[in-house]
Amino acid sequence: MNYDSAFVMTIDGMPVSGAGTLDVVNPATGAVFAQAPDCSRTQLDDAVAAARRAFPAWAATPIEDRRAHLIAAADAMLAHIDGLSQLLTREQGKPHADAQLEIQAASMFLRNTASFDLPVRINERTAERTSETRRVPIGVVGAIAPWNFPIMLAMLKFGPALLTGNTLVLKPSPLTPLSTLKLGEIFRDLLPAGVFNIIVGSDDVGPWLTEHPGIDKVSFTGSTQTGRRVMRSAADTLKRVTLELGGNDPAIVLGDIDVDAMAEKLFWAAFRNNGQVCIATKRMYVHRDVHEPLKKALVAYASSIKVGDGSEQGTRLGPVQNRAQYERVVGLIDDAKKQGYDLLTGGDIASGPGYFVPVTIIDNPPENSRIVQEEQFGPILPLLPFDDIEDAIERANASEYGLAASVWSADEEQAIAIAQRIKSGTVWVNETQYLSAFSAFCGHRQSGVGIESGEDGLLEYTLTQTVVVKRDRAR
Ligand code: NDP
Repeated sequence: MNYDSAFVMTIDGMPVSGAGTLDVVNPATGAVFAQAPDCSRTQLDDAVAAARRAFPAWAATPIEDRRAHLIAAADAMLAHIDGLSQLLTREQGKPHADAQLEIQAASMFLRNTASFDLPVRINERTAERTSETRRVPIGVVGAIAPWNFPIMLAMLKFGPALLTGNTLVLKPSPLTPLSTLKLGEIFRDLLPAGVFNIIVGSDDVGPWLTEHPGIDKVSFTGSTQTGRRVMRSAADTLKRVTLELGGNDPAIVLGDIDVDAMAEKLFWAAFRNNGQVCIATKRMYVHRDVHEPLKKALVAYASSIKVGDGSEQGTRLGPVQNRAQYERVVGLIDDAKKQGYDLLTGGDIASGPGYFVPVTIIDNPPENSRIVQEEQFGPILPLLPFDDIEDAIERANASEYGLAASVWSADEEQAIAIAQRIKSGTVWVNETQYLSAFSAFCGHRQSGVGIESGEDGLLEYTLTQTVVVKRDRAR
């Protein structure tokens, strides 16, 4: 397969060029390196119509067969991992090893999702009547995936939508569309025409998709602000929605941790994928007893990390993915400097091509500062010392977001008790960012609506149907 050019959409099982083209930039150079198709309104209508035509037969396909199709897709991803991951690095910026890990994780997610069955609940079974509740597909799903984990977050929707018997129109971010388009090319031969469609387009296409009367459910991952717009657009046709949105995840680090053993894990909790992770640690509350040693350990570890072009050997952190996000992150650093906060490391933005931002750690900024209150979604971390755990819990919970959190301690029982008091959809103890196809993942408050992954997430792609059978006892 040619991974360098010939990027086309998949509509009704066919390769389709756009009505126009969109430039795709390599964030390590800031230069355009490829053109993606730009979908017209008519092409979007074609994709939705193809998905609607394919729906009855796919919904009627036995789940064992749909399972087999997903496993074949999971295998095909791995067979193409080298080409896909190199392309992912060029468009997203992440180091090649991380791009490979993303594709492996996405393949495993598909395979594990394929292992689920749809539950049937017997409500009543008497001589007079049986009542069963089962799950049926919704129809056509419109899926919108962002630019931080383009393949993983697309598959988080693709797998459950298709296993449950829905058909799909998937829209990757126009900032990172290429590897998803190639994945479409790989999957095209493995699934019936129209079951999945992949389109790419500029600013109008997202709203067209979420308003489209031919779409029955929208699954969106992105910012809270856009999530609200998606929900509004879905209201007119009462579409089902799943929204996985922003976060400002706290980590609470207790005074009993082994700093040397934990520093590296705490570093990656915040800086993995350059902090461009919805579930990255974005505020680190550190008990005063370990504040000084942890500061030193994090700064020392940061100095060992190579920031550079993700395609170069040894790079551990690439550039920020796009110019708008880069400017936002640089704006937060400028604000921290202007306010006179203590930058332990980083802060100096190199001139030159590419959207590079150094790992930046800010010590003890005020709780009401922008860097504590806003979702940075970049390589900047505020360290926030505390003396009293009650104070730390209160500050951790004082956010409009509630996506995830973590608690770090040598005392597991104490850490679990604290975890249970954190108001978020997931809380990890002594690790972060562990997600699984078998566990529900969701945001509380402004971090989302609905659930992704696990059986709960799978069922969000279904409607409930109760079938009641009355029997005449005389017969
Ligand atoms: P947005 O939430 O604005 O956009 C995400 C996707 O939604 C894009 O593909 C966009 O397409 C599409 N979109 C935009 N408007 C609409 C609409 N009205 N209806 C349907 N789809 C729409 O994210 P940004 O890329 O602008 O990033 C901004 C912030 O979002 C980041 O700073 C970060 O905080 C957060 N974010 C969160 C992610 C997560 O994993 N939860 C992932 C990425 C970002 P188009 O670009 O064509 O408008």
